Amino acid sequence: MTRLRMAVIGVGHLGQHHARILSGMPDVELVGVVDANPEQARGIAAKLGTTPYDQYTPLLGRVDAVSIVTPTIHHHSVASAFLRAGVPVLVEKPVCRTVAEADDLIALAAKANVPFQVGHIERFNPAFEELVRRPIRPKFVEAERHGPFTGRSVDIGAVLDLMIHDLDLLLSLVGSPVRNVSAVGAAVFGGHEDMVNARLEFENGCVAHVTASRITKLPKRRLRVWAPEGYAGIDFVTRKLTLVQQSEEVREHGLDVEHLDAAAKARLKDEVFGRYLQVLNLDGDRKGDQLTAELKHFVNCVRTGNCPRVSGEDGRNALELAERVLTALRNHQWNGHVEGPLGPNGLPQPAGFLFTPMKIAQNKAA
Ligand code: NAD
Repeated sequence: MTRLRMAVIGVGHLGQHHARILSGMPDVELVGVVDANPEQARGIAAKLGTTPYDQYTPLLGRVDAVSIVTPTIHHHSVASAFLRAGVPVLVEKPVCRTVAEADDLIALAAKANVPFQVGHIERFNPAFEELVRRPIRPKFVEAERHGPFTGRSVDIGAVLDLMIHDLDLLLSLVGSPVRNVSAVGAAVFGGHEDMVNARLEFENGCVAHVTASRITKLPKRRLRVWAPEGYAGIDFVTRKLTLVQQSEEVREHGLDVEHLDAAAKARLKDEVFGRYLQVLNLDGDRKGDQLTAELKHFVNCVRTGNCPRVSGEDGRNALELAERVLTALRNHQWNGHVEGPLGPNGLPQPAGFLFTPMKIAQNKAA
């Protein structure tokens, strides 16, 4: 089999891992890495034994596929250049800055008839893969995605940086358009929103509460689903899936607590999980990492011409929903009236300190 000639455009925090994984695939030849910062390109290229570039133009016409991992503001210009040249593209999430830009890329990919994949990596999380194999029709979902402030991706806020992962998962899991969106959130450090909570009401009756924060001390990424079929809980960090369902006995006859005798009632607490509700814990941690799975999937789509699991349309739909969350967020009335203050930057002045501020020693080296 001929090796697929590939390049990674943007080899910063995440792109260097795309390049490392692709360079280790036997059916891929990493012909180059591109970074606007030439030193960064040289460093990564030297490590991986490939050629550094500070511009992508020399690679047009010399690659079979590319992975684009630049900051979001550059996704459209870089991806459109490759799609126009008929080169299949994997672009990191969020797909672009605007829905109009995403629509343009979708049209270019369709015209060139090449795969166009968006890097919503959690779709390749083994715990999520396990869940979607099962017949579940979510009716209430709670999604939480929290992490510490890293100073990265500050060109966007917590909605486009973090929440968009869960918006994509929800759209794929619930499979229904969203009817109503309400949201509240604050720009704690100024600039873009750092924490957000959104409530989504889907046309099929499902309701989702989605929280994203990039100023939380400990990371947490989880999804909890309630459905007629049972409950599913995913921890995306540990890649564990917990499933709970009614036993056949309960599904058939229910649980008539009022008519249980005293002994049966006394056993109830111990028997709830086991006899009445059955629990299955699945550990996805032994399966490979999801970035490798995502890249392998893309390579396979390029070879076969199959439509990627996360298509350009999926990336666009997640972005459109994210824009609706941002609009709801900007219209949130902190004091309950439309005259303001409104939105993530309008958080009212604090009434005081919650506790006596601690004195912080200044870093002498600074
Ligand atoms: P980063 O700033 O660490 O890296 C981006 C790199 O791109 C930098 O080295 C920069 O010099 C380079 N660059 C900028 N403009 C360029 C251009 N026009 N051509 C070539 N190189 C260019 O950012 P990051 O954290 O690696 O994020 C990159 C992208 O990946 C963003 O879109 C981000 O949203 C996405 N991301 C996705 C996930 C995920 O979970 N899927 C996680 C982190 C980041």
